[in-house]
Amino acid sequence: MLRLMPSLTLGAWRIHTLETGFLWLDGGAMFGSVPKPLWSRTNPADERNRIRLAMRCLLLEGEGRRVLVDDGAGDKLSPKLADIYGIEHHEHTLEGSLGSLGLGVEDVTDVLLTHLHFDHAGGSTRREASGALAPRLPRARYYLQRKNWENAVAPNPRERASYMPENFQPLMDAGVLTLWEGERSPWPGLEVFTADGHTRGQQLVRVSGREGTLYFVADLIPTASHVRIPYVMGYDVAAIETMEEKRALLRRATAEGAWICLEHDPSVALARPVAEGDDFGWGERIAATSGVPAEREPIPGRAGPAAPRRA
Ligand SMILES: [Zn+2]
Repeated sequence: MLRLMPSLTLGAWRIHTLETGFLWLDGGAMFGSVPKPLWSRTNPADERNRIRLAMRCLLLEGEGRRVLVDDGAGDKLSPKLADIYGIEHHEHTLEGSLGSLGLGVEDVTDVLLTHLHFDHAGGSTRREASGALAPRLPRARYYLQRKNWENAVAPNPRERASYMPENFQPLMDAGVLTLWEGERSPWPGLEVFTADGHTRGQQLVRVSGREGTLYFVADLIPTASHVRIPYVMGYDVAAIETMEEKRALLRRATAEGAWICLEHDPSVALARPVAEGDDFGWGERIAATSGVPAEREPIPGRAGPAAPRRA
């Protein structure tokens, strides 16, 4: 069955949300100090206390580039780890979602990695028949913050399980990884900026044009439920920093009427934040798979009509 994923156009950029699969992580770890009776209403846990999470990426087409933002968990996990993390690829894979746009992995020119945790960057490499590891996007250059690289190659004990060298060392060995320091605008209408509360050197993406603005916020706001300022993951290295970074981002996005792409929400791909007292909630939301062609279901509001789908 052809899965239809929301897309929109902002300035020079055609933006496609790209499902790459699901994983299941401990609900308590995902919600930190928030009690289970609260988070389990919106994110029900399975018998192993895990909740279902998407691994949603972006494909940005514009300025002569096809830029992938994050690349999911990939397919290198051992059967034991794939079971622990509940990796699901029966509905979606990176290759399948690119294929639904008429594209293959060789068409991606650039990969922006928010950070090297396995559920964001595991799809960066693949194991060849010989057993050797190679870049999975064979013609792409990859970009990461230097601070996150340094964190990943010498991880602290809390994050060690999430930074798996097979996902990133082959990129450096192949000479395709560029390390950035701080915020920058690699192409017109596209900016990256950092948020360090989840992990050191996480970079987030802002795309803007005359029709509006979109943020890809990775693990700063992993699911729709995490829009509330105190909803901070137990995984984060610095909860207070996350809350400050989240408030600043939501203030800015609310003032801009911006869309936020939620990387891990199992059902909501895009949503617009709204102020609710001294906290935040959501206004319009766009489901991850709409089931009807995007041109017959335009994304409403300031972002303008959705870009027509190619496949
Ligand atoms: Zn992470």
